[in-house]
Amino acid sequence: MTERRLSRGDRLVVATHNPGKLAEIAALLAPLGVEALGAAALGLAEPAETGSTFAENATIKALAAARAAGLPALADDSGFSVAALDGAPGVHTADWATLPDGSRDYGVAMALTRARIGEPEDARAWFTCCLALAWPDGAVETFEGRIDGTWVWPPRGTEGFGYDPMFLPDGEAETFGEMAPARKHAISHRARAFAALRSRLG
Ligand code: IMP
Repeated sequence: MTERRLSRGDRLVVATHNPGKLAEIAALLAPLGVEALGAAALGLAEPAETGSTFAENATIKALAAARAAGLPALADDSGFSVAALDGAPGVHTADWATLPDGSRDYGVAMALTRARIGEPEDARAWFTCCLALAWPDGAVETFEGRIDGTWVWPPRGTEGFGYDPMFLPDGEAETFGEMAPARKHAISHRARAFAALRSRLG
């Protein structure tokens, strides 16, 4: 693959319409000096996530945005996995939160997840993040990060977004929903995927 690099001052489309993710990704990009442009602000359409893995979906989103904007684009496909549900909701995490009117409610999604878990002995859960960096000519690279922990019920905390209040990372006393955002950003699945990506920047 042709070597592609991003440098300080370059513009990068962040191919997400999720404001929580956009805020986290913009914060992770800030120290790199790369200007992050949101896909919604650019009026880009949201492609259907038809892949069966995080990497496939991240690639679909990043390539669509790079081609539409004529700029390099970064997409995140991520999700929450529960061992007792064989890794579900996983790539379907956002679908479990989608209501009939198309809006998303993660309180509903967490309650649905808890109901499907039933009474298992296995409380293991994890978040996965796959980042895809795509270029208008079709070149693309992916980077994956994961954080392990347990699911908790009831959900705790109002920080973060999505399933954060239901996830207690291993070795931590606070859920992602309770901890200071800076702490989450230091240890999260997204931070780990970014650490892998960072080696390709600059
Ligand atoms: P997608 O990547 O847009 O398909 O959506 C993945 C979904 O996974 C998000 O909308 C969130 O609900 C969930 N998710 C991904 N990362 C996080 C996180 O850091 N905290 C909480 N929920 C997350």
